[in-house]
Amino acid sequence: MATVTLSPKRDRATRHRHPWIFAASIAGVKGSAAAGDVVDVTDARGAFLGRGYFNEQSRIRVRMLSWDDTPIDDSFWRARVQAAVRRREPLARSAETNAYRMIHAEADQLPGLIADRYAESVVVQFLTAGIERARDVIVETLASVDGVRCVFERSDTASRTREGLPASVGMLHGEAPKTVDVVENGHAFAVNIESGQKTGFYLDQRDNRALVAVHTRGRDVLDAFCHTGGFAVYAARAGARSLTLIDSSGPALAGARANLEKNGADASTVVTHQADVFEELRVMRDAGRRFDVIVVDPPKFATNQHQVDKALRAYKDVNLLAMQMLAPEGILATFSCSQAVDAAAFTMAVSWAGVDAARDVQIIRRLGQGIDHPILATFPESEYLKGLLCRVA
Ligand code: SAH
Repeated sequence: MATVTLSPKRDRATRHRHPWIFAASIAGVKGSAAAGDVVDVTDARGAFLGRGYFNEQSRIRVRMLSWDDTPIDDSFWRARVQAAVRRREPLARSAETNAYRMIHAEADQLPGLIADRYAESVVVQFLTAGIERARDVIVETLASVDGVRCVFERSDTASRTREGLPASVGMLHGEAPKTVDVVENGHAFAVNIESGQKTGFYLDQRDNRALVAVHTRGRDVLDAFCHTGGFAVYAARAGARSLTLIDSSGPALAGARANLEKNGADASTVVTHQADVFEELRVMRDAGRRFDVIVVDPPKFATNQHQVDKALRAYKDVNLLAMQMLAPEGILATFSCSQAVDAAAFTMAVSWAGVDAARDVQIIRRLGQGIDHPILATFPESEYLKGLLCRVA
């Protein structure tokens, strides 16, 4: 096994159990390490710090797997997967929900691995060369979980390219329909695991959908960046008066309409717009449209630190447009899934929007990712979803 030696004074993050080691912290590699090989990691004096997997091609040269000298073999991987599965037992027992994240990568001590459960199907993403090595034992372990009948791969992400890996999509175990019917807090959704965004559904918003729905009874609701209508479906079931949905993706909107119908929404109360949210909100605002509840759940506006200022301006702009259309005392549920934008900066962008809209904004609840998307305390990168539930006076 090769050994990666860290540079003097560059071992602090590793000592503090941060799982990523960048090229700048590495003094040298003793022995040869191919992409995905397990390596020992030592400080500049040669003291052992732990084990991880290596990739010369990635900006993140090592992802740490353990802080002791446990062998990284099949039983290691099996135990890690089983531990992540056990952590979800409270969710797995629920009769109301059968869609949740089973494995949340670094935050579940399995760097580079995502696994989402949709009823009897599991959708996996192997995002790095290191985790790719363990694919067989991981698939076998997932396939043996209670109630799992099939494992489908959706490793078609940009991060794979950065690791020097080709995209890989297809059935790995059993057989599944292209569209899987799931329930989330008792709401029915059809999830397209084969070609939907990510693994098919935004599971991280489960709790927030329920928290927003409370405010929608008898109200006119706008779901901006609706994808397959997660928030709109909850609002429909909660008795919203009307639902307006906007997304740029045709397939996402078709999915949203089907999901609304599945949940008994009255089609005459639903309007969908396939459009750019920024443009459509301007049109609606200029036409004098008003809503009582608006959800703003955009894609990542910043993928790194350099894009943060630009992203904050975009968050401010979209929230300003939303506030200009909110009825007095309206409810705004607004989100950022940009890891690089922290909660304080996001709150600031929303407060700027309130100032420009000349409205007082009360934050009535801070929102985040669900319990199946844990945040590892030593790995702030695992906290990505922030939201604010606001009353706009
Ligand atoms: N709220 C959704 C998840 C939103 S994900 C849920 O609960 O499931 C972000 C969505 O924004 C995606 O569906 C994507 O298609 C859409 N999107 C991205 N850029 C957009 C734009 N400029 N205008 C409209 N929709 C956009």
